[in-house]
Amino acid sequence: MSLRARLTLLYTILVGGTLLVFGMVIYHLVGLTITEQIDQILEQTARSLIGTIRVNALGDLAVTAESDLDLAANVYVQLWERSQGLIYRSNNINSLNDPLDPLAQYTSQPVTRDVSINDVHLRVMSVPLSIGSRQVGALQLAASLAVVDATQQTLLKVLLIGTAIAVTIAATGVSFVTYRALAPLDSVTQTALQITRADDLSRRIPYQGPMDDEIGQLIEAFNQTLSRLENLFHTQRRFVADVGHELRTPLTVIKGNIALMRKFGCSDEESLSSIDEEADRLTRMVGDLLLLARAESGKLPLNYGLVELDTLLLEVMQQSQVLAHGKLDLRLGEIDQVLVCGDRDRLKQVLINLVSNAIKYTPVGGEVILGIGKEGDQARLTVQDNGPGIPAADLPHIFERFYRIEKSRTRSVDGKGFGLGLSIAYWIVKHHDGEITVDSIEGQGTRFCVWLPLAEGDCPPEDFPLEFE
Ligand code: ADP
Repeated sequence: MSLRARLTLLYTILVGGTLLVFGMVIYHLVGLTITEQIDQILEQTARSLIGTIRVNALGDLAVTAESDLDLAANVYVQLWERSQGLIYRSNNINSLNDPLDPLAQYTSQPVTRDVSINDVHLRVMSVPLSIGSRQVGALQLAASLAVVDATQQTLLKVLLIGTAIAVTIAATGVSFVTYRALAPLDSVTQTALQITRADDLSRRIPYQGPMDDEIGQLIEAFNQTLSRLENLFHTQRRFVADVGHELRTPLTVIKGNIALMRKFGCSDEESLSSIDEEADRLTRMVGDLLLLARAESGKLPLNYGLVELDTLLLEVMQQSQVLAHGKLDLRLGEIDQVLVCGDRDRLKQVLINLVSNAIKYTPVGGEVILGIGKEGDQARLTVQDNGPGIPAADLPHIFERFYRIEKSRTRSVDGKGFGLGLSIAYWIVKHHDGEITVDSIEGQGTRFCVWLPLAEGDCPPEDFPLEFE
């Protein structure tokens, strides 16, 4: 059964059930109220009648003021005496010789019951008449319940017809509303099917309704998932193309040099160092890829300890001078003693990635300034250059895996990677409870900041796996 049919059925049952219960309560309340009024009339009449009945020394009953009895015109009255039987009855039941309520004729307590005589529905009150403890007779009064029955019947008809109309309106209304509300889901299904058929992740589900209702949120979440999937597919495609391209270049160089050495029958120094350089490049790439693969499978452990970030920074600067030598000015800006908890090797890797990028992308004659300081309870590492900067459109993506700015892809930069350096740095910092931020102005330069929580006493001896999202 469809969701629409189920919702309609459920709502209809709820509306119908509620109306029926409500109707039954009203039906009984109306009956009770009218019957109560009749009982009151019977009781009042009984009281005034009892005042007109006399009893002699022998216990015989007699009605003294008959005219009073006529006052109760809608009430049927019978006066029964124990020894003589029926001694009085009202004019409106001249033909009835049997007791109005035989079962309660001589009860010891007043009793009021519903009785049917010749298909006439009556309310009968039986009142015992006693002298001391001796019961000498009984008074029975009755009134017709035709009004109650007629009222209840009319009410029943109204309630049943009303319920049927309300249920029909509710079913139609709910069916229409659910059709309107669920219609966008059809379009979700159709779009999802079209995407699968056409293998086209660029499609999005159109929705004109409010975005803050459940359907709007579902469609938004679905569209976001599509965007992410599309992004991942592009990344994957780009990665395959880049890896193929990047691996082919050093292999061609290596093969070319080997062919040269074969041809001339000697191993010249130039070819050997070229092979060596390309082999290093390949090793770096494979290292990055392995790191990424381990991080992705959650198997990259972090060896926590106290790390002197200032010492680490000086170490990285010293090592990077080789790369910067003769090309640009690599120097130290702000320096402070800073202790953090973390994996020294991984944090060094973050710094190396940032500094080598700055050196790589800053043109000859530029400058790269490294700094370390504190802000509140955070350590702040900065790597600033006056290179080409990063276009604003690329900034949100540079930490994505395999993302490279178009210019860097085409520009010939020695030792360029293939878009893994920053994403590796990002995830290492993230798993140190830190943050990595970037400010860049195209044509003026770029500043990367790494924020890490300052160490408070000893470091937890944890060694937990780093997960790559
Ligand atoms: P790559 O190995 O290609 O350098 P990264 O992940 O390290 O990959 O960097 C991603 C991209 O961000 C680079 O392709 C480059 O275009 C850009 N980038 C990174 N650092 C800088 C920088 N300091 N100046 C300008 N562009 C940068």
